[in-house]
Amino acid sequence: ANNAKSQFLATISHEIRTPLNGIIGITDLLRESKLDEEQQKLLRNLSKSNTFLHSLINNVLDLSQIENDKLILQESAFSMKRELNNLAEVMGYNFQEKKEKINFIVSLDDSLPEYVVGDVVRLKQVLLNLLNNAIKFTEKGQIWFSATISKTKGVSTYIRFEVKDTGIGITDVDRLMLFEKFYRVENFEQEGTGLGLTIANNIIKLMGGKLEVQSEEGKGSTFSFEVPFEVTNHFVGDVVIEDHDPQEVCPLKILVVEDNDVNRMVLQKVLNKCGCRNVTVTVNGLEAYETACDRPFDLILMDINMPGMNGLEATAKITQHMQEHNLPMPVIGALTANAFKHEIEEYLDKGMAFVLSKPYTQEELQGHMRSVQEQVKARQQEAH
Ligand code: ADP
Repeated sequence: ANNAKSQFLATISHEIRTPLNGIIGITDLLRESKLDEEQQKLLRNLSKSNTFLHSLINNVLDLSQIENDKLILQESAFSMKRELNNLAEVMGYNFQEKKEKINFIVSLDDSLPEYVVGDVVRLKQVLLNLLNNAIKFTEKGQIWFSATISKTKGVSTYIRFEVKDTGIGITDVDRLMLFEKFYRVENFEQEGTGLGLTIANNIIKLMGGKLEVQSEEGKGSTFSFEVPFEVTNHFVGDVVIEDHDPQEVCPLKILVVEDNDVNRMVLQKVLNKCGCRNVTVTVNGLEAYETACDRPFDLILMDINMPGMNGLEATAKITQHMQEHNLPMPVIGALTANAFKHEIEEYLDKGMAFVLSKPYTQEELQGHMRSVQEQVKARQQEAH
């Protein structure tokens, strides 16, 4: 039954991600077109719904991984100070609507270690959830966000994070139920799913800590946890994303393989905006295979689930053809609605150079395109 449920979630998630990719893509494109004030307002609301639906799908995926013990932390070195400062800055924007009524106070311990090893994406997911809840459930007063060193033990430094608000608070009865999935305090009009804290609690457990809640009804709440991080000096540096000049022509010869009409149209428009003038479009794996054998491409953007020959089969056949005829291999990247970690790993294993999960952002796509451009340039220089 559990396997069937996981399969069901994966299928539903895929089915929702495919149209959502189209909706988010078109919303982004519309934002850059000429709109009157009323239309801009409608679009802002559309964007809000997109963001909510996207996070809902991600939450359901996270939950299914937690329930199958498949949620694994991805550890790497990162700058704790920089990440927390960035997070505080992003939260500053989220406060815009309530900034007259709420003071946002950030207190980050000066002695926080510079570089640590940990899962920065999951840490930020937890903190964002707690901070967004604090904003949601506080009408006026203060919200404090702090990070302090609580102890050091061997190579580990324990950092205590706290998010405190002067909001509506939580009753003792509700407090006991908070970490149950889908639990929400009734009679409150705020948007939400009741999954955020369940997921946060589980992530913190995986990190070796415990999420604690103190609250008084009508006065406010404090969510806190303490987790160990290994301090390190081995930090290889951030990836610097350079500003892209939209007028610049992208020299890549690109083959698009996508069976969904709307997503195909969005991808074509995005590539056009990125200055790509050499784009060929196909609608399934077989067509892609035949086209790729017919003329050379630098980059193939390949959907995975397609009728007839799917993206993985097409990739295998294209690879075989290039090897047999001693031809240069195009970079093949997957654009897919399948977002489970084991699926992404499988695609990378089967020859995909990168995997972008739908809905992806223009920046993510452009990042990969820039790296393919570098590879093509290096290859050409080598040939000379
Ligand atoms: P969601 O916010 O999506 O409903 P969460 O799991 O993050 O889901 O929160 C579950 C419930 O806990 C919320 O619906 C709310 O009733 C309560 N809650 C969470 N954080 C706070 C807070 N800072 N103040 C008051 N109530 C809160």
